[in-house]
Amino acid sequence: HPSPLFANAADVDFSKMEHRERSQQVFAAVRQQLGKTYLPLINGEYVNTQQSIDSLNPSNPSEIIGKVGLLSVEQAEQAMQAAKTAFPAWKRTPASDRAKILRKAADLMEQRRAELSCWIVLEVGKPVREADAEVSEAIDFCRYYADEMERLDKGVNYDIPGENNRYHYQPRGIAVVISPWNFPLAIATGMTVAALVTGNCTLLKPAETSSVIAAKLAEILVDAGIPKGVFQYVPGKGSQVGAYFVNHPDTHLIAFTGSQEVGCRIYADAAILKPGQKHLKRVIAEMGGKNAIIVDESADLDQAVAGVVQSAFGYSGQKCSACSRVIVLEPIYETFIQRVAEAVRSLNIGAAELPSTQVGPVIDATAQARIKEYIEKGRAEAEVAVELSAPDTGYFIDPVVFSEVSPTATIAQEEIFGPVVAVIRVKDFAEAIAVANGTNYALTGGIYSRTPSHIDIAQQEFEVGNLYINRTITGAIVARQPFGGFKLSGVGSKAGGPDYLLQFLEPRHSTENI
Ligand code: NAP
Repeated sequence: HPSPLFANAADVDFSKMEHRERSQQVFAAVRQQLGKTYLPLINGEYVNTQQSIDSLNPSNPSEIIGKVGLLSVEQAEQAMQAAKTAFPAWKRTPASDRAKILRKAADLMEQRRAELSCWIVLEVGKPVREADAEVSEAIDFCRYYADEMERLDKGVNYDIPGENNRYHYQPRGIAVVISPWNFPLAIATGMTVAALVTGNCTLLKPAETSSVIAAKLAEILVDAGIPKGVFQYVPGKGSQVGAYFVNHPDTHLIAFTGSQEVGCRIYADAAILKPGQKHLKRVIAEMGGKNAIIVDESADLDQAVAGVVQSAFGYSGQKCSACSRVIVLEPIYETFIQRVAEAVRSLNIGAAELPSTQVGPVIDATAQARIKEYIEKGRAEAEVAVELSAPDTGYFIDPVVFSEVSPTATIAQEEIFGPVVAVIRVKDFAEAIAVANGTNYALTGGIYSRTPSHIDIAQQEFEVGNLYINRTITGAIVARQPFGGFKLSGVGSKAGGPDYLLQFLEPRHSTENI
């Protein structure tokens, strides 16, 4: 199996002056291109649209990052027809040729790394280092899924004397990819290239607030040689164009990453057989989390405090893997709260593009208002351990740590997706595990402990897709920490892991009597 040998792309080393200077130069160059128009790509052509939206810089919403043409339903149907037309040839294209396009795309992303990072920083307000790591992840997805497809393409022979038995895979058909804004390049790339390399014609519907970065991905795939109709960039409203593709009888597969609400809706809609539909749709839905870190009395508190702060406030808490609950054992509870409060007070909050920024803005005004409501609920339900003040231009939120939170409080149960953490006091380790498992989600989780029996119990009983022991709970790396959850965090197997591509394929078998 190739994955242990997989070489991940290296992040930029920003401790080197030359890389910091280069980043500044690229920001200046990207700023020259702000406000341009990005159009949908249908059947190899960029097409005009009647409607468009402005994509704004969350750190400074008066800055328009780009104007994005939104697909109409009629154009969505044209894209579907083009995908169907392109499918037979793409299905017949050898897997190694498809893989070559992904590798070329990875090389182009490597060449455009600094520029892509800038677009991420400016369009979704992600601090520079995290944006750079996201480009690495996108590159890894291309190279890893290229390798994986070549592995699967070998199939399996179960021959015996007198009988040949061949097990092999074929594409499913038309794949609709619906991506979120929080990893605007990596997640959109991962789902899209997985669908393409397995031989499916693929329509990418990005989140509205990150459609410019998705347009950059479209440019890269075109430059890498993806044939017309095989990949199409179809920006539009989720509730309209997204729903149209989900409900379309010719859609075979939907790869979705986003909220639980929308994921459950897509899962239900996709299950309904439409007139003329001759297959059941496959849905991969990666959804939210309410991720907890347990800190027990044997934990190295220096490590635990730093890990909790980074996991909770990195990208302003807007990672599906972010820590939003900390479950702390009684004997160290007070000390932990004091130390976390101190660590949080030292965080730098500011515009995402400033090199010193650790916590940037949240994505948009709607998210900002929603998070503020949760903070108000938190004030009624718990105590404020520390609250910072954020800049008032831009969609900033004052980061907050709540203490003495009941495990059943709203802020301990619902995904907030912002820089808000609930600290829960428990009397022993058994209660810690029960509280950790007491939500509908099972995405990431962590434990800081130097007690081997506690670590063992966590490995067995902590209901999470990805468990992290004595480290941060964010930042999964392709082919090293395959990523994804269960319970209401998702259906589907892990991105960046050995089972992922199987979901995009139909296994077949043939037996020949010889
Ligand atoms: P979202 O609101 O659910 O949107 C995700 C995508 O679905 C967007 O492209 C959206 O389009 C589209 N959409 C909305 N309504 C739709 C409908 N009725 N039919 C079809 N498509 C529809 O989520 P988000 O705010 O972008 O992302 C944040 C969420 O993603 C969080 O819950 C986070 O935990 C989760 N997430 C999970 C993972 C994971 O791996 N498990 C990774 C990252 C994020 P519009 O933008 O046009 O509405």
